[in-house]
Amino acid sequence: MSKETFSFQTEVGRLLDIVAGSLYSNREIFLRELISNASDACDKLRHAALTAPSLIEGDHEFKIVLALDAKAKTLSVSDNGVGMNHDELLETLGTIARSGTGAFLEQLGKDDKKNLNLIGQFGVGFYSAFMVSDKVEVTTRKAGEAEAWLWTSDGKGEFTIEPASRDERGTSVVLYLKKDAKEYLEEVRISHIVRTYSDHIGFPVKFGDKTLNEGSAIWTRAAKDINEEQYKEFYHHSSHAFDDPWLTLHNRVEGVVSYTNLLYVPTHRPFDLFEPERKSHVKLYVNRVFITEHADGLLPPYLRFLRGVVDSEDLSLNISREMLQTDPKLAKINSGLVKRVLGELEKKAEKAPDEFAKFWSAFGVVLKEGLLETSPHQERLLKLCHFASTNGDGLTTLGAYMERMKEGQEAIYYISGDDAAQLTHSPHLEGFKAKGVEVLLLCDPVDEFWVRSMDKFEGKALKSITRGVADLDKIQGADKTEDKKDEAQAPALDSLIAAFKMALGESVKDVRPSKRLTESAVCLVADENDMDVNLERMLRRQGQLDGPMPRVLELNPDHAIVAKLAARAGVDGGAEDALLKDAAYLLLDQARIADGEAPADPVAFAKRLASVLERAL
Ligand code: ADP
Ligand code: MG
Repeated sequence: MSKETFSFQTEVGRLLDIVAGSLYSNREIFLRELISNASDACDKLRHAALTAPSLIEGDHEFKIVLALDAKAKTLSVSDNGVGMNHDELLETLGTIARSGTGAFLEQLGKDDKKNLNLIGQFGVGFYSAFMVSDKVEVTTRKAGEAEAWLWTSDGKGEFTIEPASRDERGTSVVLYLKKDAKEYLEEVRISHIVRTYSDHIGFPVKFGDKTLNEGSAIWTRAAKDINEEQYKEFYHHSSHAFDDPWLTLHNRVEGVVSYTNLLYVPTHRPFDLFEPERKSHVKLYVNRVFITEHADGLLPPYLRFLRGVVDSEDLSLNISREMLQTDPKLAKINSGLVKRVLGELEKKAEKAPDEFAKFWSAFGVVLKEGLLETSPHQERLLKLCHFASTNGDGLTTLGAYMERMKEGQEAIYYISGDDAAQLTHSPHLEGFKAKGVEVLLLCDPVDEFWVRSMDKFEGKALKSITRGVADLDKIQGADKTEDKKDEAQAPALDSLIAAFKMALGESVKDVRPSKRLTESAVCLVADENDMDVNLERMLRRQGQLDGPMPRVLELNPDHAIVAKLAARAGVDGGAEDALLKDAAYLLLDQARIADGEAPADPVAFAKRLASVLERAL
């Protein structure tokens, strides 16, 4: 095969334009990216050799070697890792397969060149080589194969691949340094960069006969020998992340199954947090041999924001990924990790509520997914959950809510919707506000689901205020004016209700007097055993439900409109009264509008409104 020429995929081209033209001051990170790739390549081969030992025959000592050539003005990074064959080379160094690239390019555009530091996080770290190079050559030979290949590019739209010769497996990346990048020809500079960014790499990084890095995997060292900077750097490297960890958990567990964990809770949401696979990103090692980054069963999906490493010498090295999933030892580790993490989160929530609030706003919504799973920790998780409420701007736990419950209050009340601010104006809240009864404002879609399975907290029912009858009577209100609203004084609604039912027919499930309204004339609620209002709205939006379900229309007996309509219905029964009929529909639509919905039939609504106004004038 002779030399072939290819064009970079459009996205790569765009990325390279930005990278090559960058005046980014922190360009030294290119070396971190190349060493990280070399280390990944060694990890991959070490893992492959578990089942195919012949792959590393004759050369068991993985290493990464840096070399300078002052005359040719080149810096090279070589490894004896897994290497690449022709097709892999073509695919990985020419296209970008990862999903995050679009997001990355967007970030670069938004925030100027500053975010180039993020390059590794988005699976395009290799291309950072062009920040300092006019030309890059990659010579590589895949472990177990005889052919070697040379990839060459000046980073300007095209690259070539041709046969090459190479005695050993692995990869060498040779950088022809730019005029303004000659600093990387200095040994002192190089070793400083390696120690800053790559100290924790688990393979020796050699320069001549020296080893530049510490070389032992950081998690195998004692916590007291590791400083915060080193923890941070490892987090950045191992997680491709560039925020600072919000929490670092490094400890060793000795027991039936022994393991070490170095786990991080990020400060910011990783960009792939909401990918549908809900994959774990904690790397699993067995005796310092990397096994997988996505071990199902290592951690539950609701903790998928965690990053870092778990290393156990008690798992079998040769176990396949499929078998690993069902390994009872892995389940043991899982349970230990979950307990540890929840314990730490509880501590933070109690001792540093402000810090915890930051965590909660980033990951609370993911943690709440745990309420949906049958796990022994549901109760514990629910205790940790924080919610918006009518109590004030901050968030509250259910425990704190219970302390504020009124005498006679039997349930924990909530209302759900898209937006807390909007919910606070809901007519459904009026009666609760009048009595000083706090209502939780649940605004994440996941809330709608867990409240259906976990309908109790410490013996108190969780009750939606948009479903069923409001049982406010038993609660000792703050508002004593309440008591004057007794049966005798309230105008009889029977005739009005009958007239409304007749007029509205199938459009409503029922019409009844309301206990929850104090200011608005009407509101709509779900019947006790029907689907709650917000859930229905969500399902309809996703096309999983057709038309709206008939709701219960509640009338406020104290409202002037209702009182006048009731009087009018009382006189002639209302059956033939066109105004009562229009009023019924108008009030029903008004209730819909107050819930943020459109009138069922906007044209009919407009006509009725016009006709009623006309009569009034
Ligand atoms: P990432 O490392 O996040 O996958 P990079 O842009 O750094 O993204 O590298 C792209 C891909 O190129 C790697 O996933 C790997 O398949 C391949 N690659 C890069 N360097 C090496 C190397 N030294 N040995 C083997 N494969 C490599
Ligand atoms: Mg990389």
